[in-house]
Amino acid sequence: MFVVPERLIAGLMTPEDAFGAVEAVFAAMARGEARNFPVVREALGEGRQYGFKSGLDRVGSALGVKAGGYFPGNAAKGIINHQSTVFLFDPDTGILQAAVAGNLLTALRTAAASAISIDWLARRDARVLGMIGAGHQAAFQLRAAARARDFDRVIAWNYHPDMLSRLETVAGDLGLPFEAVPLDRMREADVIVTITSAPAFSLAAKHVSPGTHLACMGTDTAGKQEIEPALLARARVFTDEVEQSVTLGEAQHAVAAGLIRAGDITPIGSVITGKAPGRRSDDEITLFDGTGVGLQDIAVAAKVLDLARAQGLAIEVEL
Ligand code: NAD
Repeated sequence: MFVVPERLIAGLMTPEDAFGAVEAVFAAMARGEARNFPVVREALGEGRQYGFKSGLDRVGSALGVKAGGYFPGNAAKGIINHQSTVFLFDPDTGILQAAVAGNLLTALRTAAASAISIDWLARRDARVLGMIGAGHQAAFQLRAAARARDFDRVIAWNYHPDMLSRLETVAGDLGLPFEAVPLDRMREADVIVTITSAPAFSLAAKHVSPGTHLACMGTDTAGKQEIEPALLARARVFTDEVEQSVTLGEAQHAVAAGLIRAGDITPIGSVITGKAPGRRSDDEITLFDGTGVGLQDIAVAAKVLDLARAQGLAIEVEL
């Protein structure tokens, strides 16, 4: 088997590679060629969360599982709180092929998913990018969004305003003017990315203009919420996987309130494969509920393993 350690990932995997791998697996899911298995997620106490996301991509010939979770005591030890590893198996024999470090890959595959949604659903003339959230993932989200459209400025809001300087630095690197704004100025945005761990929504329907595309990426667990449910009723809602969207994604609240049903939500893979329409008019609000599926992790891990092996960098060990 091979090991691809965390220190090698940044030099191997580009955001473009992540975009391509995730887009291909979303399409495979829509064609019924790839499926995610039920997610296991357990609380360990003291705020620790641990779980598994797994799946099989028959066409990409990838079988695997991401194991990991959230360990809030890590920051004090100088380690990041989210920790994960992807294990890849030979789909024919079940033999373990690789252990691939999953921390940077998680950020890259999550940013790729929202960039894919922007690419397929945002207006072509989108110029103002709105960011809600300024934590670890937000910087990756901003960089990926900036590759999907030709934005000319970034506006941002965060529950903890002191964290916004991190995003200002990233916007500066990208050559984009940056402004911290109150929530009601999100009406200026053509695309809004939300990436927080909020337990209750801040962004309300009244804060969003017609024609906006939203990539809602933070809600990946029951009980988290970023968006007023009424906004989902007003929008056309897309997702990576409908089952996750209605149980642990942003749509869980609108579905529970009876405002939308699972049948109202379109898998983004169906748009990519041409089975379902994407944006239908310039004033429609589109909303992507990015919940994070195991096949995304497996797709980027399989890609990075290929790259590492091709460059002679994968470490071979006997199991
Ligand atoms: P982080 O801890 O680095 O940042 C947390 C963010 O949430 C900050 O912007 C913070 O200000 C905000 N926040 C915290 N408490 C809040 C509150 N009570 N109200 C409003 N905002 C609050 O986390 P991160 O690594 O950037 O992850 C952000 C979210 O994205 C998490 O919920 C994480 O689980 C989720 N996530 C989703 C995917 C996916 O595939 N969809 C992948 C990775 C992470």
